[in-house]
Amino acid sequence: MLPSTRPPLNPRAVSISMDQELQRDRERRQPSHAEDDGYLAEDSSQHLLAFDRADLTRRAPAGTDPPRSNLRWPVVGGFTAGGKRSPTIDPRPFAPHATGTSVSDSRHGHSEGAEQNIPIWSPSRLHYWLRCPRMGWLSNGLRAEEDELQPEDLDPRTHGELLHNVHHDLICNTLGFGLSDERELRGGNDATSVALSGISENEMMRTALESLDNRAPWLDRTDAVSTHRLMVLTGMSREEWNQWLADPVPVPPSGRVGTIVMAESEVRHAAPVSLEWSMAEHDEEGIEISVPSNLAEGEELPPIRVRGMIDRVDILPMDESCQVWLDPEGDSSIAPLRVHGSGWRPRRLVAIRDLKTSESRAAKHRHFDGLLNELQLALYARAWEVSHPGDLVVAAGISLFSHDTEHVLEVSSQYSAAHEDIDIGTRTDITASLHRFADEPPSPSSDHFRAWLAQRLAVALRVAAGAATGRVHPTPSAGVCGYCPVRNVCDVRMEGGF
Ligand code: SF4
Repeated sequence: MLPSTRPPLNPRAVSISMDQELQRDRERRQPSHAEDDGYLAEDSSQHLLAFDRADLTRRAPAGTDPPRSNLRWPVVGGFTAGGKRSPTIDPRPFAPHATGTSVSDSRHGHSEGAEQNIPIWSPSRLHYWLRCPRMGWLSNGLRAEEDELQPEDLDPRTHGELLHNVHHDLICNTLGFGLSDERELRGGNDATSVALSGISENEMMRTALESLDNRAPWLDRTDAVSTHRLMVLTGMSREEWNQWLADPVPVPPSGRVGTIVMAESEVRHAAPVSLEWSMAEHDEEGIEISVPSNLAEGEELPPIRVRGMIDRVDILPMDESCQVWLDPEGDSSIAPLRVHGSGWRPRRLVAIRDLKTSESRAAKHRHFDGLLNELQLALYARAWEVSHPGDLVVAAGISLFSHDTEHVLEVSSQYSAAHEDIDIGTRTDITASLHRFADEPPSPSSDHFRAWLAQRLAVALRVAAGAATGRVHPTPSAGVCGYCPVRNVCDVRMEGGF
């Protein structure tokens, strides 16, 4: 090799061209083979930069205990001796060690100067940082996202917002309360839910179509996009829609709007009490979320303040015959994260629902993603409990508006077993084999749903603590980089896979 005739203009930039290769090399070296118990060794976390999202919902292979019953917890899945993969408890935020090459490390989140002071977090901002700290830093901290391209069809977010609003109008108009308000469940002749209001589905469809007409005046346009959207939303042709507008009578539910109407019977025994409930209304400085160190693997995690809107809050009945909605003898303090063994008794039982729209994903998959990969549901659940002493969240899940509408809920097994025959939505219990509290022995008798809540909150606090200390390293993976708003300025982005 010929010696260079001049020194480089910027010696710190010489290795930039090798950043990507170095990153790929680190990824290839990630541990993937499990120990004898079927999970990666405890010290493997410092070498991890990504994980397979499918591992979050995977069943433990034969011969491997599921995480809740395993000797150590939490665990990260890997290839077991039989060649099968084991399940994972979300190991993020990743904290990969520095390489020792200071010029490269300083470009990859191992230098000072990127510390973030974020007084109030939103769940979506935390999610950016969770998926990749560099993405969180560049997009939220430095606001370096690309301009969005304008699609010709209806923006998916506008479409989603429209369906959410139709859902909200249907419930608010039928049960007689306003958006963001909190409804008092007074008992007596008051309807607890839309399906038990005595109003027929055809009449509900009329209410929903009136809401649609008010909120989407562009549906009256005669261009191909509007006509197609009209058919998707209402199941009506342009001519049928015009006839209905001239004489808005009750009609059988059809189209996406019709599925929203019909899905209300699947949740007939849950009583909606608030829609678009704003945390800022309760405390404009955000609601404080904290986790005691014994439930956070011994870590003292600083609390965070959170602001956001909860899409839908339902009160669940305390008895099987759906007559008791409040226990006046219950405690009036904030529910402990671990209720089991505390003697604490709830006054009301609550389900938190987050509404999503998707053209392609199955409701259960989207629900599991919300539960195990995102933080929003857990943050909303705890924020509601903190702001409503005496309330205990025993279920949370995603309601998906798609070709069909489905309200899915992960439910505490203790509640589910005692209320088997009531309709509160499609039930799941995926956390029953996954989660336990960090200080518990294998197969404890505490509630897996509450253990899930504590684990997701601890992840949220760790993500925020990482941002506060300036950990802004990239954690590329195909599924995340594909949707990253700063991917064009990130030289270690992962290509393909989306
Ligand atoms: S492209 Fe990938 S690695 Fe880079 S910032 Fe975005 S998500 Fe992170």
